[in-house]
Amino acid sequence: MKGVVFTGNRNCEVRNVPVPTPGHGEVLVRIGATGICGSDLHVYRAATASDQVRGHEPCGTVAALGPGVRRLRLGDRVTVFHHQGCGVCRECARGDPVWCSDKRLFGVTIPGSFAEYTVAMERNCIPMPAGMSFADGAFIACVGGTAYGALKRLDARPHEFLAVFGLGPVGLSCILVGRNLGLNVIGVDVVSERVELARKCGAAAAVNATEQDPVAAIEQFCGGCGADCLIETSGSAAGRRNILPSLRRGGRAAIVGVGSDEEVINPTHIHGKAATLVGSVVFPLAWAWELVGLCDRAGLSFEPAVTHRFPLVEAPAALRLADSGRCGKVLFVPQAD
Ligand SMILES: [Zn+2]
Ligand SMILES: [Zn+2]
Repeated sequence: MKGVVFTGNRNCEVRNVPVPTPGHGEVLVRIGATGICGSDLHVYRAATASDQVRGHEPCGTVAALGPGVRRLRLGDRVTVFHHQGCGVCRECARGDPVWCSDKRLFGVTIPGSFAEYTVAMERNCIPMPAGMSFADGAFIACVGGTAYGALKRLDARPHEFLAVFGLGPVGLSCILVGRNLGLNVIGVDVVSERVELARKCGAAAAVNATEQDPVAAIEQFCGGCGADCLIETSGSAAGRRNILPSLRRGGRAAIVGVGSDEEVINPTHIHGKAATLVGSVVFPLAWAWELVGLCDRAGLSFEPAVTHRFPLVEAPAALRLADSGRCGKVLFVPQAD
């Protein structure tokens, strides 16, 4: 089968690699859609080469069953939660394999999803209802769930004002989930294409921070005070610096974006605003099940955030585009819905 590997310094290759074999409690998944993620781009830009097939947002159909598989059947459509824990440690017992010290990571410690097939643990596979697209499943596997996780950790409620900093696939997902939960959303980015996409995803307002002061725009949008909730996905020092000034007194913010190490948040200002700041990293496995339910029953879809679909053989072009940042979500689609 075809698989995509990163060969260092923004290069990648489509190689012929063996179809992996599912072990005990595992299934072979024929990939329907899988997204290029911000975390892939960090690795893509690095100098290190690797023979590992990349990609960690698997979604597709069950194509073979390993021994000991109990529930899944051939042909089931599944989205795969991408942190595969050991299943027996304290963190796995809490349902949060993200913090398992013995976890398997797609594209890092095990072959990933930028391929025609990948192997997944049955317990990480969440069945998808008939009408749900592979694209939505790929979002739930990683970035859509990360957005949902941030909103859950903020305890975001209907009719609140939500500001989203950084309008890449995670930020756009925050807008889509936030709108679905009934929030009023304003988005901020420095790339005009992404500001436009935010509007398409349902943001009532979207600000280009190179043209307009985002703090003033948020204050105006929120009726003179700041936002109730804020999600920082850019990872930039500039974005983080604007968190506290953009919140109303008693507001809550989630820091999601990875990036700058600059210390730009002053604890005195957190106190002065009576603000709550939480770090939000991925999401527990159970929330992926909840999110499938939300897509099924509440009409949530991540499709408006998708701007490009590529076959695996066009991986170099797909990665160049995603790396440019002038797009929404870029998907590989090895199999039709
Ligand atoms: Zn991801
Ligand atoms: Zn574990």
